[in-house]
Amino acid sequence: MSVPTIQRIETRLVDLPTIRPHKLSVATMYGQTLMLVKLYCSDDVVGIGEGTTIAGMAYGPESPESMKLAIDAYLAPAMIGKDATRIEALMAYLGKLVKGNHFAKSALETALLDAHGKRLGVSVGDLLGGRRRERLPIAWTLASGDTARDIDEAHKMLDMRRHRVFKLKIGAQTIDADIEHVAEIKRALGERAAVRVDVNMAWSETQAARAIPALADAGCELVEQPVSSAAALARLTRRFPVALMADEIVQGPKSAFDIAKHDGADVFAIKIEQCGGLFAAQRVAAIADAAGIELYGGTMLEGAFSTIASAHLFASFDNLQWGTELFGPLLLTEEILRQPLDYSDYELTVPTGPGLGIELDEAAIQRFTRDGLMKVTKSS
Ligand SMILES: [Mg+2]
Repeated sequence: MSVPTIQRIETRLVDLPTIRPHKLSVATMYGQTLMLVKLYCSDDVVGIGEGTTIAGMAYGPESPESMKLAIDAYLAPAMIGKDATRIEALMAYLGKLVKGNHFAKSALETALLDAHGKRLGVSVGDLLGGRRRERLPIAWTLASGDTARDIDEAHKMLDMRRHRVFKLKIGAQTIDADIEHVAEIKRALGERAAVRVDVNMAWSETQAARAIPALADAGCELVEQPVSSAAALARLTRRFPVALMADEIVQGPKSAFDIAKHDGADVFAIKIEQCGGLFAAQRVAAIADAAGIELYGGTMLEGAFSTIASAHLFASFDNLQWGTELFGPLLLTEEILRQPLDYSDYELTVPTGPGLGIELDEAAIQRFTRDGLMKVTKSS
C-alpha cells in the first residue's frame, strides 16, 4: 500500500473580535487573528493547524501574516508529495530549509498530527504518548486595564465556576500603581482565588527587585517574566522565595536547557508555538522535569485549534504543577467549532475524538476570513 502523501496546503487569516480590550505591557489587543492551515492528504484525510501571536508583532518576531507568507512561499511547497505519516522526520527537514518561524512550524505540525490521528483513529494525545489527565485547570487573565472592572470580572468568573486562578497583566504603569492594583484585587477576592502576575519583560532588574517582595506581601503567588534578560531572571530567582516563571525566553529545547543549566527560573511556561511545535514543547518539558523546574501550560491567546493541540500535550505531561491558561477561545466573541469546548468547574475537558477531536464550523468563520494578506483598516 502506498503511503499517504501531502497534496495541498491552504492557509487563511481569520480576524475575530475579543470580548473586551486585552491590555498588556507591550500592547492593547482589540481582536485576535488566527492563521488557520488546512493540510490535504492523498488518503483524503484533512488536518487543521493554527498559528496566533499576542498583539501582532509586539510580542515576538512572527505575525499571523508572516506565518501565512512563510508557509505559502517556503514551507508548503517543500511539503507537497512528502510522506504525511513521518511527522518528526518531515519537521526536521523543514527545520533545515527554514530557520526560526517557530509559530508557522507549530501550525503545520499541529495539522500533521491532527491528520495522522484521524487516519489512525486516535487522538493527538495518543500520538504524544497518551493522556495522564482528562481535564486541565484553566487560569483567566484579568487585563481590562481597570482595577474595579477586573474585580467585577473575577467575581463573575468565580460565580460561574469558570476560573479561580487569575493572572494580572502588569508592567505598563508605575510599579507603585501596579502593586496597588494587585493588592486591591487580591484583597477583594481573598481566599476564593489565587492571584499571579505577568510583567511581559517590562521591568529592569532593580525595578523587579523592588517590586517582587511587595507583590509577595500583597498575596501574589507567582511572577511571570518580570525582566527580559535570562541572566537577570536567574539572579532574581536566587534572591526571592516567591515563584518566578520564564515565558518569553523559553524558545525551545536549546533555550530551555540554557536556562535550566543556570538555575534560571522556578517555573517554565510552555507554549507549543513559541517552542516550535508540540514535539519541541515536549522536549522542553522533559528538560524542566530533569532540572526540577515546575511546569505551566501557557497560551499565545490561541483559538480552539492551537488551544486543543496544547491541551493534548499538557494532558500528557508527568508534571503540571501550575495548571494551564488555555482560555484563548473564551476571549473571542465567535464560536468557530461545530461543538463548543467544555469549560466547566474551573477546568477544560480534553477532547477524546480522533486527531484534535474538534471540528471547524466553516460557515461561522467565512465572514471573518480576510481577503488577501493585508488587513484593510479604516483611515481616521
Ligand atoms: Mg506570559
